[in-house]
Amino acid sequence: MTDPEALDHAWDELVATARRTVADGLVVGTSGNVSVRVGDLVLVTPSGVRYDRLGPGDLTAVDLEGRQTRGTLRPTSELPMHLAVYRATDATAVVHTHAAHATAVSTLVTELPPVHYMTAALGGPVRVAPYALYGTEELAGNMLAALRDRTGCLLQNHGTIVHGDTLDEAYDRTAQLEWMCRVWLAAGSLPGRTPTLLTPEQLDAAGEQLRGYGQGR
Ligand code: 13P
Ligand code: ZN
Repeated sequence: MTDPEALDHAWDELVATARRTVADGLVVGTSGNVSVRVGDLVLVTPSGVRYDRLGPGDLTAVDLEGRQTRGTLRPTSELPMHLAVYRATDATAVVHTHAAHATAVSTLVTELPPVHYMTAALGGPVRVAPYALYGTEELAGNMLAALRDRTGCLLQNHGTIVHGDTLDEAYDRTAQLEWMCRVWLAAGSLPGRTPTLLTPEQLDAAGEQLRGYGQGR
């Protein structure tokens, strides 16, 4: 049994994170979705419901097989992607957005060129999962392949999906990914100039340094 207070707390954090994706311009309207794992349950945003309308009574949860265990609102259509991440990794939070620069990059390349050392914060150069219809197992499969050894990927002609140990971590990585896509597009927009890229050695060194970044854990 999952502690009801832990579930309520996780739901509040999930709704706050979903609202942030709209406030920070990473999604428009009801696009995107957020989930957080609490024990054997996965709390998810409901499909097509504005995040500012969600309250404590709207808690929506499924088990790892996707069976709804809490709530009456229909879970996000991207349940296959969220569940695939939880089955394949130790992640406890997943954020999916339609961030504009990331979506633009997803139409141009099969991998985001490593223009910045924060590439290392996602585990290395971020791949683009080939296009598949939203909400499908096919999209979830393409995503899982693109996520190998990474904490995030782009979804071709669609957006981003990123996981983390916490909602804040998944959110922050998403924001960094969108920012790097913006930098690459800006750097590549001058005629006749090509952005310099970081080498695998430079990215490894940045990854090592980032493990000690900030105030420590
Ligand atoms: P939901 O509203 O069903 O979560 O779908 C939004 C989305 O981004 C689909 O890819
Ligand atoms: Zn989407």
